Amino acid sequence: MQYYSTNKNTAPATLEEAVVRGLAPDKGLYMPWEIKTLPQDFYDHIAGMTLPDIACRVADALFGGDVPQDVLHGIVRDALNFPVPLAEVEPGIWSLELFHGPTLAFKDVGARFMARLLGYFIRKEGRQQVNVLVATSGDTGSAVANGFLGVEGIRVYVLYPKGKVSETQEKQFTTLGRNITAVEVDGTFDDCQALVKAAFTDSELQARMDLTSANSINVARFLPQSFYYFHAYAQLRQAGHRGAVVACVPSGNFGNLAAGLAAKRMGLPIARFIAANNRNDVFLQYLRTGRYEPRPSVATIANAMDVGAPSNFARIMDLYGGSHEAVCRDITGAAFTDSEIRAAIASLRRRTGYLLDPHGACAYQALRNGLRQGEAGFFLETAHPAKFPLTVEEAAGCKVEVPERLRAFMQGRKESVAMGNSFDEFKALLLSRA
Ligand SMILES: *Cc1c(COP(=O)(O)O)cnc(C)c1O
Repeated sequence: MQYYSTNKNTAPATLEEAVVRGLAPDKGLYMPWEIKTLPQDFYDHIAGMTLPDIACRVADALFGGDVPQDVLHGIVRDALNFPVPLAEVEPGIWSLELFHGPTLAFKDVGARFMARLLGYFIRKEGRQQVNVLVATSGDTGSAVANGFLGVEGIRVYVLYPKGKVSETQEKQFTTLGRNITAVEVDGTFDDCQALVKAAFTDSELQARMDLTSANSINVARFLPQSFYYFHAYAQLRQAGHRGAVVACVPSGNFGNLAAGLAAKRMGLPIARFIAANNRNDVFLQYLRTGRYEPRPSVATIANAMDVGAPSNFARIMDLYGGSHEAVCRDITGAAFTDSEIRAAIASLRRRTGYLLDPHGACAYQALRNGLRQGEAGFFLETAHPAKFPLTVEEAAGCKVEVPERLRAFMQGRKESVAMGNSFDEFKALLLSRA
């Protein structure tokens, strides 16, 4: 399969090129040339299938021409080797729990898939080392670092703002060692992101080393996020629901939602999507007005969604040929303030005992408000509530049990490279290891 850039100003790339580059040379996002519809027979039997079996079929359609089937299925099964339960939290409202992976967040799925696929390409071609750069405000860094830990031929640099991530988050990417380097930047998250961007456009670095990104602009992280939408649909059918299915997605950079839309393009019968935001509601405003007006992000208690210029907006535009009307047929939106998010956590906890994290809480509330007669819906519960203990405990008025996996990280010893926020310093660090 070939991949084109959403900016349509560069030559098509192979899957390998798209994965190794991350962003296309014209700064667009790569998209598969064709999103194949899966045969009716697959949908007829999906209710009885397991998540890994479903994911292998979807992966065949997406990547089958580029990776031998046994390798591809090995990558899929390895990336998804944790449960993704669907829990009914209220009549007709289901939580797709994507937080049972190594770092207790949905990004584990895409990060693990990308790490293994890139590892395969490096082995196959006898490529030189590939360097993955990732700027993080907390959660992306841990999923990427843990996903890539120990993968031969790949070195990961996680840039994070000193003193601005929680201790739990910091421990998840500074205690790993091996091929993971944590770079503690004396600056803000925006400084970290600017350093990564500058590295991608520096011609000397480009000439000396292979640099790629592991956020959702990378096709190898973005596309595998479609797998679990099929699984949620299958579980709802298995549970006996015959009516229309709605998917509600807590969104920041909109990679997760764009993957769900790709699943629909593959024929998955999801009637419509709801995009849930915190106060960073650029997408909701676009739905209302037809105008896309990025603006600086504001800090909220659902901080993984604090994005003012969602990078995957370009993919959504591409999928709908830029038609606002077509987008609005498939997607509605909602946005919540911090106090509304806290109220959603408190209310569901009080009525049912189910504990939401602040991101899932946006999606839960959007789904509850938006569900119509005869529909059932699932929302993506993107992180374990124990990742945000202070916020969740205060809102819900109860203790959050910390999973063993999270506690284990806390035992590790932090190791990081401290740096100012100048690009020269960062470049020197990279070159010293090229
Ligand atoms: C990254 C993240 C999101 C937002 O996902 P996007 O694909 O960027 O829209 C939502 N919730 C959590 C917990 C996240 O870590």
